[in-house]
Order: sequence, then C-alpha cells, then structure tokens
Amino acid sequence: MAGEDAARFGGPPCSPEIAAKMPDSRLMTAPTFDGVDLIELAQRFGTPLQVYSAGDIRRRVQSLTRALHGLDALICYAVKANSSHALLKLVAALGAGADIVSGGELERSLRAGIPGERIVFSGVGKTAEEIRTALRAGVGRFNVESADELECLSGVARELGTVACAAVRINPDVDANTHAKISTGRAENKFGVSIDEARSWFAQARDFTHVALNGLHVHIGSQILSLEPFRQALQVVDGFRRELESSGHAISSIDVGGGLGVSYRAAQDSPPDVADYVAVIREALRDFHGRIVLEPGRWLVAEAGILLTRVIRIKQGSERRFLIIDAAMNDLPRPSLYGAWHDIVHVGQASGPVLAYDIVGPVCETGDTFAQARELAECKGGDLLAIKTTGAYSASMASNYNSRPLLAEVMVDGGRHALIRQRQSLDAMIADEVTTLQWISA
Ligand SMILES: *Cc1c(COP(=O)(O)O)cnc(C)c1O
Repeated sequence: MAGEDAARFGGPPCSPEIAAKMPDSRLMTAPTFDGVDLIELAQRFGTPLQVYSAGDIRRRVQSLTRALHGLDALICYAVKANSSHALLKLVAALGAGADIVSGGELERSLRAGIPGERIVFSGVGKTAEEIRTALRAGVGRFNVESADELECLSGVARELGTVACAAVRINPDVDANTHAKISTGRAENKFGVSIDEARSWFAQARDFTHVALNGLHVHIGSQILSLEPFRQALQVVDGFRRELESSGHAISSIDVGGGLGVSYRAAQDSPPDVADYVAVIREALRDFHGRIVLEPGRWLVAEAGILLTRVIRIKQGSERRFLIIDAAMNDLPRPSLYGAWHDIVHVGQASGPVLAYDIVGPVCETGDTFAQARELAECKGGDLLAIKTTGAYSASMASNYNSRPLLAEVMVDGGRHALIRQRQSLDAMIADEVTTLQWISA
C-alpha cells in the first residue's frame, strides 16, 4: 500500500538535506492525513488522539468488493478490531456485515444498522444468554466451536421455536506463521474442532432438529503476511466440504475467516495484495458454489489509523535515552502485549541529528514501552509524534489502567473531520463505581 500511503500523507516534501539524512519511516514529511491538518487536530482535541481515515477504509472495502466480483460473497467486518460506532456505520453503509464475538458486539452492530442476517457469531465462549439474544435478533449464522456449544445452540433455538443456521469452525492444524498469541489454527489452540470431530457432528446432524448445520468456517490467526497458510487451510476445508457433499450433506456457506496482515514496519512488512488473497480463495474453492463469507478485521482498518501523541519530556537514563510520551499501553496495548512494532514519526518538519530513543508511556510498568533504541530526529518536550497503523486492536483494547481516561477518537475524510468519541471525563471513568456500600448480611 506504499502508493496509497504516499497519497494519504500529502503536502510539501521536506528539505532535500533532511530527506537525505533520514529514511522515510523516521520522518513524516507533511502533517496532513486524508486531507486534514494533524497539528490542528491535536490542538483542537488534545493528545493522545486516535485519527482514522474514512477514505482509506472506504477504498479497502471497495477494493475487496471489486476483487470478489462474480462470487456470492459477504464481507463480515470483524468488529473486535475496532468497534467504534462511526466506523461500524461506515462499513455498514458500504454493504458489509459483521463478525461478532460477544453480546456487546452484537448490540454495537445492530445499533450501527447492520441487519441480523449479515451478522455471524464466532467465539468459543458464547453463553446461552448471548445465543438467545442473537437468535432473537435474527443473526444469520453461528460459527460453532464445540460439541457443548452445538447442544446449547440447539436447546436455545428449540426454546425459541426457531432453527439456527450453524457452521462448524474447523481447526485445520496449519501454522499461520504469526505471533503465538494471535495464532488460532493449530491443534493445540482453543479454537475450532478437528475434522474427525466435525465429521461426527454432521453424522448426527439430523438429531439436531433446531440447528441447520450447513456451513464450514476457518480462521487460522491474525497478521498473516504470506498467502501459503491461507491456501493450506482452505484446501483442508474444501477437501472436507467435498467429502461431506458426497455423503449427502449440503454445504451452503464457507466462511474463510480473517487474518490478512498489514504493514506495521514499512521498511520490512510487505502484506499480500488483496486481489492475490482473493485469488487464493477463488482457486481453493473453485468447485464450491455456495456463499463465501470473509471476516477481515485488521486489514480493513489498521493502516487507516494513527495515534497522535505529544512528547512530555526526555529523560536521560544512565544507559538509555527515554522519550516519554503522553500515550501509554492502556491506549495502545499491542507493543506491551505482543512486543509489536509500530512505525513512529514526527508530525511536520523535524531537524537535528538522528538519536536513538526508548519510547515509553507514563504508566508504571516497564512493559509500557512502544519502542527501544528507535531512531528519530532529535525530540523535545511538546513535539507531536504519530504512531502509525493503530486503526485495529488499539482503541478496542484500551483500558483505564493507571486511571487514565479513554482517549478521544476522530474520523477524517477528504479534508473534513469529525469527533467520533470524546475523551472520557474523569466523572465518566468512575461513574459505575459504588461509593456508599450497601452491605447485605447473610
Ligand atoms: C479476530 C477474528 C477475525 C479477524 O481477524 P483479523 O486478523 O483482524 O482479520 C476474523 N474471524 C474471527 C473468528 C476472529 O476471531
């Protein structure tokens, strides 16, 4: 997406002397994002501030839709990547549905106007209550992950006098070659069931009078940068689909999951092109004529987001030079959780020598570190920085740790901007706590 990146970060180039001294990833040459001045945004809304480009998200939905041309395909955006109302409405307006993993995500999807029939419900721990609410909302498909869940789904559907549409999540035992904490398709992971187990479910399918077991689902992990694991997983699933059909089970949908990776480190990551990804799906499922469901999360929104943060101060330690910024692990947990890399750049011109900084937040944890020995043009207190590729698994994972209010979020769109979440007030942060205890004796 290097070309699109250049298009989003418009504006005048930096001086040739500075450009010669510094690789691009150390310097954002122009302070605009989707046509909006980032310095002004930071002044207006304060920092830390998440900024999402609606234009970028729109282009991605459209390019995926174009790649899927001629297929009976439904894009179900994985809500957990970023569950902001404004963002859900944006993808819903482009025709996408939702992939949800909780009752909370169901509520958010419905409120954003996504109809139940475009919602698929995934996850290993759906409660009977969540299943009941989802069935009442007309959720189109349950991706079932265990025999117990299948029983539960059947029981709740019977109680409501309806028939649930279900798919078996297959664990294909392939290595997605990604971070262990976001790998989901190995036999030792908690997700999905083996082909053997799935086979036995289909053998008993007629006993489940209130479940139409007619789909297959696979999702092998996240931030996958090679197409090979997808190809392998889909071959396993399609082989099983053929076997099921030849023994008389109709399969009406295959859900290929999400997982397509993005560029967190411009100098190193080269994510597959979405058209090539879709070509792998077309090829693997060429004999399948039912509906294909896709569940992209990260790929749709990650690169569309940046986190604006200001330098609070520099601290020269005895061994390391610390750059202390006003964003922390509670705003963007990926580096502390996964050791994830994010490119970090100055907003606007930066001059001075390139120095190596450990970039840390104010939270009282050594893990509150965004980067170690990261090279940046010399910084001083008050400088504005952008942490890139923060549209996914950032705001949706944020917490109040260290009693830090949730940050503000803004959407930008071709020169316009809109606040989509105000910075949490201290009152709101503590509002649900009970201050006068009502003790109840046994
Ligand atoms: C998390 C998840 C996704 C989305 O994964 P991305 O890597 O963000 O595309 C899709 N499907 C399921 C079942 C998931 O759990």
